[in-house]
Amino acid sequence: MAIRLLPPELVNQIAAGEVVERPASVVKELVENAMDAGASRVTVDLEGGGADLIRVSDDGSGIAPEDLLLAVTAHATSKIASFDDLEAVASFGFRGEALASIGSVAQLRITSRRAVDGHAHSIEVDGGQVTGPRPAAGAAGTVVEVRTLFRNVPARRKFLRSQAAETGRVHDAIDAIALGAPGIGIRLTSDGRPLVDLPPQDERTRCVHVLGKGLASELLDLSFEFEAPELHGPIRIGGVVATPAAAKSSARNQWIIINGRSIEDRSLQHAVREAFRGLMDPSVHPVYALFVELDPRAVDMNVHPAKTEVRLRFPSLVHRAVRRAVAQALERRGLVVQERLPASERPEPTMPLPLGMPQRAIVHDDGGDRGIVQVPMGGGPSASEQLTRPAHGTGVSPEPTRFAESQLDAAAASAPVRFMQVDHAWLVVEEGDGLTVIDQHALHERVMFEELKARIERAPLERQRLLMPELVDCGAGAIERIESLTPILDRLGLECTPSGARTIAVHSVPTFLVERGIGAREFLAAIVAGDLQADDPRAAEAALSEVLDLMACKAAVKAGDRLTHAEIAALLARRATIDRPDRCPHGRPTAFRLTTADLERRFGRA
Ligand code: ADP
Ligand code: MG
Repeated sequence: MAIRLLPPELVNQIAAGEVVERPASVVKELVENAMDAGASRVTVDLEGGGADLIRVSDDGSGIAPEDLLLAVTAHATSKIASFDDLEAVASFGFRGEALASIGSVAQLRITSRRAVDGHAHSIEVDGGQVTGPRPAAGAAGTVVEVRTLFRNVPARRKFLRSQAAETGRVHDAIDAIALGAPGIGIRLTSDGRPLVDLPPQDERTRCVHVLGKGLASELLDLSFEFEAPELHGPIRIGGVVATPAAAKSSARNQWIIINGRSIEDRSLQHAVREAFRGLMDPSVHPVYALFVELDPRAVDMNVHPAKTEVRLRFPSLVHRAVRRAVAQALERRGLVVQERLPASERPEPTMPLPLGMPQRAIVHDDGGDRGIVQVPMGGGPSASEQLTRPAHGTGVSPEPTRFAESQLDAAAASAPVRFMQVDHAWLVVEEGDGLTVIDQHALHERVMFEELKARIERAPLERQRLLMPELVDCGAGAIERIESLTPILDRLGLECTPSGARTIAVHSVPTFLVERGIGAREFLAAIVAGDLQADDPRAAEAALSEVLDLMACKAAVKAGDRLTHAEIAALLARRATIDRPDRCPHGRPTAFRLTTADLERRFGRA
């Protein structure tokens, strides 16, 4: 083939391949444009996970009507004019190709108005064809709408994951941007449902919101400054890092923001790990949002088309600054590595428990405000014999929490005075004006469901990593459904990935289930049989409830389990702490009452 210049349309499509990978990358480009335009509030609305519509609205500077056409033209930018500007770029954009690329793979409409303009103007691009600019209605600022992404690139459209998955990625992208720009208010909605709504905040408040409010008390402030002549100025390290106790089994909650831009940098991730060395189980991941500020000339932002990586001119200096900043914050909290503890004080190693082996230890105090206590259920040794230390799958717990016998006594004291177990299945309780007959399985399931739900609202459930992934065979359809559930299962402590066409590899299981002798295989089989799917946020919520219920149902005592006196007392005490305890999660009754009046009627005494 003879050499020829590519038509601009094709050039844009090729560029789109780099910049516009999926809805999340479009959102990133558009929100960054809004921030470059000095917006103080940005709203992102998605339909169909962004595949149908992405709308980004801002209250920034707006675009002059005569510039609208240039804005959608490749390599047209208002942000840099010379090579020198590129050397010290301070804006998010500078390549001038995002809008042109998006216009080549979707229907694009920009409506914009500057404060000085009498009204807005809009321009449309569809398959590379430009219409406008023409007068339009609109407030000051800019609204960019992107419809049917990849409509003309079917291979790419097919490549998009489920709506839930794409929405999740947009959510992540928004979190990343939100951390880098705490002063800007950011909203994200998906099919009209708000997912993110952050007012302008200070840096720490923003970190707490993005990392999870449940972590607030575990977050240590970073504050470190370091001068080096070759850097043209100081390196400042700010942000927050969570204590080792709050470490997670996935590396998802790790953010590095350099000069306001969230980036991936293995070397700096490593620097943080180094600071944690000896303080944290190597199989878990620290949680942090790390802000690095340094002279823009010391960072090359132009190494990655989506600008998610940078090249540092003096990486080892920055590495050292990060490591020292984190180590210092940990030290201030008294977290220092102690060499050679006397044997008696050395913490017991946290060993992964073999799966499928019923554990007797069921002691749990997660340190949260409600201090959920799980009382051992099931036959065998008495309650107090079963009390051993908790099996912590993740993180190094600063202090093993023991389930004090007084807690059981307290549970017994607050429980109704008289009760009995009938046929190892029913509990008969004298309470109020009459008696209540309780289905022990249904009540236990209900109680655990509520407790699990409350727990997961605060933080993902503890998990136990498996030394070897457990492989579970499922049908091909099941694999897809499990994939759509991955974010939910991950919160519950069940990490799994497809491994081949009909096999799922399970990497971790909820400690909660392990403690009750329920294996990965059994739990996964129940989920597959449940025919669950989480393709949109509403379905995801329902699926989360279903899976929690499955866990509770599997783990609950069954009819036929003999319960000790203390166990029954504790179960009844927990019943008193939940709303509507008389229905199981499916709405079936857990109990019925016979009042004194009922009894009198039956015996003809009324
Ligand atoms: P870049 O951001 O690299 O300059 P883009 O294609 O993303 O390239 O945008 C092209 C130009 O359009 C920008 O340089 C800017 O002048 C203008 N622009 C884009 N989005 C906005 C916005 N939300 N508000 C104001 N101007 C914008
Ligand atoms: Mg841009």
